[in-house]
Amino acid sequence: MATTYRIPFNKPYFSGREFDYMRQAIENGHVSGDGVFTRACHKLLEEQLGVPKVLLTTSCTHALEMAALLVGIQPGDEVIIPSFTFVSTVNAFVLRGACPVFVDIRPDTLNLDETQLESLITDHTRVVVPVHYAGVGCEMGAITDTAHGHGITVIEDNAHGLLGKVQGKYLGTLGAMATQSFHETKNFTCGEGGALLINDPALVERAEIIREKGTNRSRFFRGQVDKYTWVDIGSSYLPSDMLAAYLLAQLEAREDIQRRRAAIWNRYQTELAGWAQANQVRQPIVPAHCVQAYHIYYLLLPSLESRQGLIAHLRERGILAVFHYLPLHLSGMGTRFGGKPGDCPVTEDVSDRLVRLPFYNGLSVEEQSEVIGAILAFQP
Ligand SMILES: *Cc1c(COP(=O)(O)O)cnc(C)c1O
Repeated sequence: MATTYRIPFNKPYFSGREFDYMRQAIENGHVSGDGVFTRACHKLLEEQLGVPKVLLTTSCTHALEMAALLVGIQPGDEVIIPSFTFVSTVNAFVLRGACPVFVDIRPDTLNLDETQLESLITDHTRVVVPVHYAGVGCEMGAITDTAHGHGITVIEDNAHGLLGKVQGKYLGTLGAMATQSFHETKNFTCGEGGALLINDPALVERAEIIREKGTNRSRFFRGQVDKYTWVDIGSSYLPSDMLAAYLLAQLEAREDIQRRRAAIWNRYQTELAGWAQANQVRQPIVPAHCVQAYHIYYLLLPSLESRQGLIAHLRERGILAVFHYLPLHLSGMGTRFGGKPGDCPVTEDVSDRLVRLPFYNGLSVEEQSEVIGAILAFQP
């Protein structure tokens, strides 16, 4: 039987309007994709971020698959991806026959190490996928300069980073495309959901077609063609308008949600600082030119043993803290693509020592006091 925790790692959040909006979606008699709530989410995100086109999808995984289709990945193409990320970042491209080339991360932000990019580029490199870990921006200036110098497309996996900024620009607006996740574990959720942000206007029309099963149905509904038909490859990546209704309620509450998350994150950072310093524990680093999205609060313990020790110590007190990504280059699939120990030393080291603390919109002041008190009582 699974242990139950008094303080879980994550708890899905209700802003309060979700039920009303979902009821409206049902009463509207349009519960399939691209109804009024989907359009409202598109408009809200396009206006907030200044992105030419946003398309809701059934997941971030599917938005990544759409991106791989849109850039026309062919078997043998190479895609540069951090080893320290979720499987979907790489799977979307491997599904099209790409060969992943894993890049290590920076020791400070745990983001793709842009200084290694140049040395990994070959004649086959088509795409680089920066992941804004924990919602702290990658060095996008250097990444896009290097990529564009070689005619390589940048696709941001921005699953953690909605509303974060780097050098004053919103994360998700810096690559040709970017992907968002609205999975239950993310800052804003509809259970399962995502979005594709399209910054290159030349990709918009084909994106609509790929998302609508390879048909020009979107143009038909706008009255631009008088019947719709099969025009390209595609799949079904539209979420139901009921899910968009749920999501709209969360997106409308974005300022409250982010304010609350910032307060939780900042409190961990302040109240654990003395303990961290005394115990060789590394706290998150957010460069001055980044506005973070407050997605994750992590600690880097001195060793694997001390990390496991802290997780067990918290578990005994009914608190769930969890580790994060295992190095993709050392996974069963990663080794099939030639990954071996030592390829990405920072990833291998960090993966063993990182722990994420309970962090959700509804985490109360008292609950957080308990988590902090329990950590202060732990000697790594
Ligand atoms: C959550 C996550 C995904 C996948 O999101 P889904 O919406 O569950 O498909 C992809 N990449 C990163 C970095 C994530 O954190």
